[in-house]
Amino acid sequence: MSALEALIHRTIRERGPLDVGAYMQLAMAHPTLGYYATRDPFGREGDFVTAPEISQIFGELLGAALARRWLDMGSPMPVLLVEIGPGRGTLMADALRATRGVPGFHRAVGLHLVETSHRLRSMQAARLGGIAVEWHDSLALVPEDAPLLLVANELLDALPVRQFERSLTGWRERLVTLAPNGRLAFATAAGRSPFHAALMQRHAGAPLGAVVELSPAREAVAAEIGRRLAARGGMALLVDYGSARLDGPTLQAVRGHATADPLESPGEADVSSHVDFGSLAETAVARGAAAWGPLAQGELLLRLGAEARIARLAAGQPPERAAALREGAERVIDPAQMGALFQVLALTGDGMAPPGFTPEERRLP
Ligand code: SAH
Repeated sequence: MSALEALIHRTIRERGPLDVGAYMQLAMAHPTLGYYATRDPFGREGDFVTAPEISQIFGELLGAALARRWLDMGSPMPVLLVEIGPGRGTLMADALRATRGVPGFHRAVGLHLVETSHRLRSMQAARLGGIAVEWHDSLALVPEDAPLLLVANELLDALPVRQFERSLTGWRERLVTLAPNGRLAFATAAGRSPFHAALMQRHAGAPLGAVVELSPAREAVAAEIGRRLAARGGMALLVDYGSARLDGPTLQAVRGHATADPLESPGEADVSSHVDFGSLAETAVARGAAAWGPLAQGELLLRLGAEARIARLAAGQPPERAAALREGAERVIDPAQMGALFQVLALTGDGMAPPGFTPEERRLP
């Protein structure tokens, strides 16, 4: 048994069953034993591959969209450029390279990366070369004295999610406990959850036995972004697998590019769940921001000029290199691959549509 698994067993024996979010927090984010602290999860050798690692146009086009918003806002100086959960730093490196030609943008930008893993912080520093960066443990610690341009890819899915089951006596929380055979197992709490009222509001029509998810951790991020955008202006692009509305459980684990049991070998597999963008949009709107979409990632990249970008990159390259560039772009755009599973929620400080979005795609409260 790994040291992390032993710690989880001891915690349950001493303090009782954990809610699913607390389990996820330990498995993924424990500061020394957790998943992100102990490995580089990205790429062929790791557990999963993310869009910026597949195609450079992902970071380039999202970066260009942020810079375009900055121009539309009248080029405020300074401006905070923030990424939460930057992984290897590839998205930000591509975004900065693609925006070098935007007059004044790099001089205006203060770059802030929110990253809990110190291991990944060093990879990000290496990837960004000599660029000045400040790292923070949470978004709450990023300065607030300027407009905000923010991007996060595959961050929200990694934040803890809690699960609830509808019973005759109301919504009850699902827990992680120790089964008699000494292994981790799911169980259901005896009493009605304090989240009962909130769940009734959102899932009034759910049948008995239905399991739904709620993520206070993700809601907190959406609230903080919404509040900052309403106060100082700017734009946030949140990209992840998920949809405008989720009605069932989506907790999943991936290890070595294959599905795994989320309770098996905690800290060794990537445990995540789909993002309920509708709920996050409501939260941000309640804080005074405007919300747009979610729009399929592939559709947004096309609207932001993916075709022209890839043609420019491929021009003059040897045929194999040109084919590889096209193949990568197709993977992140094609709806049958990553283009539709992944969605983009845009949040803004004012009512001007974000680059790539139409006024009709604004979510009304
Ligand atoms: N955006 C990157 C990495 C996605 S993986 C990419 O697209 O490749 C998730 C990232 O979020 C990792 O960098 C992980 O260390 C970071 N992370 C996880 N929990 C976090 C938290 N609570 N706050 C900030 N970063 C977090």
